[in-house]
Amino acid sequence: MNATNEDALRHGIVDTALEMERLGINQGTSGNVSARFGDGLLITPSGVPARELSAEGIVYLPLGVCDGDDVLRVQRPSSEWRIHRDLLRARPEMHAVVHTHSTAATALAIQGRDIPAVHYMVAAAGGASIRCAPYALFGTQALSDHALAALEGRRACLLAHHGVVALGADLSRAVWLAHEVEVLARQYLLALQLGAPPVLTGEQMHEVLDRFKTYGKRSKDD
Ligand code: 13P
Ligand code: ZN
Repeated sequence: MNATNEDALRHGIVDTALEMERLGINQGTSGNVSARFGDGLLITPSGVPARELSAEGIVYLPLGVCDGDDVLRVQRPSSEWRIHRDLLRARPEMHAVVHTHSTAATALAIQGRDIPAVHYMVAAAGGASIRCAPYALFGTQALSDHALAALEGRRACLLAHHGVVALGADLSRAVWLAHEVEVLARQYLLALQLGAPPVLTGEQMHEVLDRFKTYGKRSKDD
């Protein structure tokens, strides 16, 4: 990876944070963004609102050795750097991680609810439900451990009393999924007003997951 790539990715992270604010899934200093870069990751700094971010202010952390406080002395990465580090370590096919406090998804997370298969698009997160990870204090290893477990076989999860984590093969796919989780949460909350909504069966969700493998891709018959 050369300096031009790094610069483009730094700008991409700033643009992603601004896009999340534009979409209404983050505001103020809520949430954070990271992307894999070489043997490490680039991540938003802690406590900086999206509109005050700069490409130079994005923090680099090596994936291998950022276990102690040593790398945290110069610039302060997002307090959730452990979630970003652990997910990028554990999921080599994923290259971007976003975290939000989007309203509807967080309302469900406050209630400790998973999003069940109330809509076929739940499968966009990789399975038949979007799990809610148990509560732990923000910025802790315990929260990262809970998130990693809830993301087993999934690309998005809720964090109890906190928000959402979404992964993607790149920044735009991670943001798209974080926004989709918020839309699904709104739909689920509205459906709940009329009583416990019916859910799709395991078989129906399996069918959707199967269909997603070719969705949006041209087949040889097109
Ligand atoms: P940072 O500003 O440290 O990224 O924290 C925001 C957040 O959402 C913590 O969970
Ligand atoms: Zn948060």
